[in-house]
Amino acid sequence: MRDLLSDDFQQVVADSSMRHRSVLDILTKYQEAVGRVNRAVVKAATSCGCISINAEKPSIPENISLQELPQYMSSHTDGQLCEECRETLESEIGMQLFYLASLCNIFDLNLYDIFLKERKRLDTLGMFNLA
Ligand SMILES: [Zn+2]
Repeated sequence: MRDLLSDDFQQVVADSSMRHRSVLDILTKYQEAVGRVNRAVVKAATSCGCISINAEKPSIPENISLQELPQYMSSHTDGQLCEECRETLESEIGMQLFYLASLCNIFDLNLYDIFLKERKRLDTLGMFNLA
C-alpha cells in the first residue's frame, strides 16, 4: 500500500511555486533550510535555554559488545525543547522537507520509495548502522 500522505505532500510541492525552478535555486534553498534547522537547535540552547548542549568524547570501555555500545553514547543534550522552540524547529524541518521534495521532483524521485529503501537498508544493517 502506498503512503498517500507523502505522495500527496510531494504532489502539493510539485504544484507549488517551486515548480519549474532551477535546480540551483532548489539546492541553495535546501542548504539554507538545513542551516536554519541547525540554528533553531543552537538558539534553543543559547537564546532560550530550554536545552543545553554538553559535548564530550564518550568514555567507552574496551571489551564491550556491540549491543552494549548504545548505553555509552549520548545525544550531548540536556533538557527538553519548550513549546516555542519545538514549533520553530518543526517549522524549519518542514521547510527542509519542502525543498527536499522539490529536489526529488526535479529528478522524478519518489520520497516514499526513498523512505522504503532506507528502511530496508536499516533492517539489513541493524546494529552495524553506526553512521
Ligand atoms: Zn526553548
